[in-house]
Amino acid sequence: MKILLAASEVVPFAKTGGLADVAGALPLALEELGEEVIIAMPKYKAISEDKFRIQKSKEGVPFSVIGKNIKVYFIESDKYFNRDGLYQDKTGDHKDNLERFSFFSEGVLNLLKRINFTPDIIHVHDWQSALIPVYLKTVYKNDAFFKSVKTVLTIHNLGYQGLFPKEEFPKLGLDWSLFNIEGLEFFGKINILKGGLEFCDIINTVSPTYSREIQTKEFGFGLEGVLNKRKECVFGILNGLDYSIWDPATDKFIVKNFSINSIDGKSKDKEDLQKLCKFPLKPDVPLFGIVSRLAEQKGFDILSDGIDSICKMDLQLVILGTGDLKYHLILENMVKKYPKVISLHLKFDDQLAHKIYAGSDIFLMPSKYEPCGLGQLISLRYGTIPLVFKTGGLADTVDKNNGFVFARYAKEDLIKTIKASVAAYKNKQGWLSLMNTAFECDFSWEESARKYVQLYTSAARKP
Ligand code: ADP
Repeated sequence: MKILLAASEVVPFAKTGGLADVAGALPLALEELGEEVIIAMPKYKAISEDKFRIQKSKEGVPFSVIGKNIKVYFIESDKYFNRDGLYQDKTGDHKDNLERFSFFSEGVLNLLKRINFTPDIIHVHDWQSALIPVYLKTVYKNDAFFKSVKTVLTIHNLGYQGLFPKEEFPKLGLDWSLFNIEGLEFFGKINILKGGLEFCDIINTVSPTYSREIQTKEFGFGLEGVLNKRKECVFGILNGLDYSIWDPATDKFIVKNFSINSIDGKSKDKEDLQKLCKFPLKPDVPLFGIVSRLAEQKGFDILSDGIDSICKMDLQLVILGTGDLKYHLILENMVKKYPKVISLHLKFDDQLAHKIYAGSDIFLMPSKYEPCGLGQLISLRYGTIPLVFKTGGLADTVDKNNGFVFARYAKEDLIKTIKASVAAYKNKQGWLSLMNTAFECDFSWEESARKYVQLYTSAARKP
């Protein structure tokens, strides 16, 4: 099958979140399965021509290569992409994001003609490329070049929809008749993601549970009606994890490598992390780790409500992340009060993240909602037991056999589950068997890529 993947961020070129990981890793797994894939993304200022060996195609389009032979084509624009920040700068969202990503979406369709590549499937991601299905079914409706092309839209987080004032509608180059409830209108505003959901052939999300949750009022962010209307076309495929990056046996960032067959090294990594946090070097005290955006979505509302009680338990807690100022302040106060129990690192730090995944005993991820989540998958790989709220991708990957799960989103339930995990940690034999189950979990991309191929096949068969 011929597949074009269009995304606003792709690892290793540009990343702000999990979308980039998927857009960079899925094509590699598809290529391994024998599919023909190309990628299109904006050419942001930060993308180095030298570092990524960017060349020009014979048609004059800049491209780089990943995997064996996956061409990543860049959509260029001095006006729209040659600036700092993918979506925002220090002052907030770029004011012309609607124009930037409608330019990108049209640019992708023009690119296909330019390089004469007719895909069977265009796979778009989140609102930034959601206009592609809209343009295909409207502006390009009678264009023979795109006649057989089908579209799949993956939602990575329904919380971001691309909302803009009605007045900007003419900039999209669409007929005003599309500004209605069956089209891009959403309570008087333009909703780009909604347009994509209405016009794509198949809707997909990044876990089976999240695909059901988004059809409910609680998780639907106002789009549950649209999703429910199309429920026959809504699917959920779990993200994989790139085990070449996340592997305790080869990880270059940690002081001692380890694996299921030689877990001794993990205690050295714990000691290293305890030193780094200036904690007492106690092997018998469970060390909890968090690597996360400090946001309500990630459970920081109930966590900060319960943090004082948590710090009174016989445990240690290291937190790495940045986010809402109010959580920075609450946690900083806790560090002053309990310096031997809690250690706070308010930054983005890949190396420290590796050290936390490797050196912790328990990985705390009480997200209020979680489309898929990578943290729990990484921690399982490092024999670090995840403690999660039962939602979205967390519910699909963690259960009592490989972790700790609470089912009511409340401070009391979080605290109770942390207490239970501290008690469980004291039982060495039980803990070892929990770690073994964690090590044995397999969330590699291969299985997920096979499911994507099935999804593409069913999209291609649509009338
Ligand atoms: P998100 O909703 O933020 O995309 P995910 O769990 O899907 O959440 O992915 C987050 C990824 O970013 C994980 O790989 C995690 O390790 C990493 N990460 C988050 N915060 C930090 C940080 N402060 N420093 C280093 N890595 C981080």
